[in-house]
Amino acid sequence: MRLLVEDAGKPWFAGWLSRICDLSGDDRGTRWVGGRRVRWYLGHAGVTVLHPDAAGARIYYHVRLTETRLPSGGFRWWWACPGCGRRVDVLYLPLGRDRLGCRRCCGLVYRSQYAGRRGGRRRHRPRVEGDNMLGWWMWLKR
Ligand SMILES: [Zn+2]
Repeated sequence: MRLLVEDAGKPWFAGWLSRICDLSGDDRGTRWVGGRRVRWYLGHAGVTVLHPDAAGARIYYHVRLTETRLPSGGFRWWWACPGCGRRVDVLYLPLGRDRLGCRRCCGLVYRSQYAGRRGGRRRHRPRVEGDNMLGWWMWLKR
């Protein structure tokens, strides 16, 4: 069963983290992600996170951050997904998952993607229109 992004709970944006660290100078904090309390400490090239795993046991691990310099002189962070290493803006911690992960690692799909798949059926419509055209043509030929 695919889980929808909208049902995965609160996500965690790297962009948000870089903003609050830049503005407040904070190097640690607490953040609710997907219904779980995640404690984070800014360390070398990333954060150490501490939160309960799917079974409720406390785990901690390192999540790498990469930095992008902005034209304004500021900076912006991106997560390196703990699962696949991809550079992403958002990490999720859906129910039943032990560690934070990107949308792909968590197997999340957007509701709109479902709509898009349903839209696949709509692709048949031009053929129906084509059939109608053929019908018209047959009618005109009579
Ligand atoms: Zn991933």
